[in-house]
Amino acid sequence: KGSDGKYTVSLIEGDGIGPEISQSVKDIFSAANAPVKWETISVDPVFKDGKQSIPDDAIASITRNYVALKGPLATPIGKGHVSLNLTLRRTFNLFANVRPCKSIQGYKTPYDNVDTVLIRENTEGEYSGIEHVVVDGVVQSIKLITRDASERVLRFAFQYAQDIGRLKVRAVHKATIMKMSDGLFLSCANEIAKDYPNVEFDAELLDNACLKIVSDPTPYNDKVLVMPNLYGDILSDMCAGLIGGLGLTPSGNIGDECSIFEAVHGSAPDIAGKGLANPTALLLSSIMMLQHMGLTEHASRIQAAIFKTLAEGKTITGDLGGKAKTHEYAEAVIKNL
Ligand code: NAD
Repeated sequence: KGSDGKYTVSLIEGDGIGPEISQSVKDIFSAANAPVKWETISVDPVFKDGKQSIPDDAIASITRNYVALKGPLATPIGKGHVSLNLTLRRTFNLFANVRPCKSIQGYKTPYDNVDTVLIRENTEGEYSGIEHVVVDGVVQSIKLITRDASERVLRFAFQYAQDIGRLKVRAVHKATIMKMSDGLFLSCANEIAKDYPNVEFDAELLDNACLKIVSDPTPYNDKVLVMPNLYGDILSDMCAGLIGGLGLTPSGNIGDECSIFEAVHGSAPDIAGKGLANPTALLLSSIMMLQHMGLTEHASRIQAAIFKTLAEGKTITGDLGGKAKTHEYAEAVIKNL
């Protein structure tokens, strides 16, 4: 917090629609007098010791500010490019990915009462990046599960459940098949649960969880789901689908020191630069960021204005069936503050 009473936050505007949706966040925050000063940084990769990495000044900015908001980063497909998103997660050891999905009034989907909270282990599992060719035509990919990383994300899930007052945690797993790896995750969950006697704990198989959530999401509205990396990646997108897609879902990547909040969607190159992007997901991510910083009043006020604008349905973007440009939607949110 600076002498002007404002908190400096690192802002990675990102690629494609990133700068347009970032502008909406900046405009709305300034209209709401949110005590946030943005420090815009670029994470365009540089080469250090022959390896692709994030520029030092970007790392220094996030380390100094503890909190960053990030627009989407385009990841070229194929060899030789490490995903910058992955690099950021690794650099700052952002071990937990928090993905809430709550139905948005005014945007009709098959269910209007979805309210899931999912926490995904963010550093290992199937995404450890340990792959090799055994012989031509045979590749091996290693799923790494450690007690340390499992305990860390599970402890975070229980603590988070307590903080938000959802006193039920459910671990999602496939320990019936992955007996050792998911088995370790599950046994860690049972152990950590003992430290949180006021939080109810149970476990569910991933396939069953998928079937149940799409059949009726309401039994999940009082739980925090926690799971290994790949399951969390897929299940969180499935939940996003239940509330109307990736244009509406925020996320937080939480580490011990720093945290980075980001929209779940990509850089949408097909609509970039046309003023058609929906900034809601990045806005809701910035709300999660404000809550994380303890600025709950500002968070609630901006969130209420967003939900009101969406519920009115007059000034919404094309992906939600409206005709508004990105800046027109932002102006409507500002009017509703
Ligand atoms: P995408 O999410 O960018 O786009 C998928 C579809 O959704 C497109 O039709 C797009 O126009 C639409 N869309 C996405 N966000 C929108 C928004 N806010 N408003 C309105 N419409 C929106 O996915 P993609 O096309 O698979 O990926 C494009 C690039 O983004 C790739 O380089 C990919 O690697 C990258 N990506 C980055 C992240 C991230 O930074 N977290 C996440 C996913 C994809």
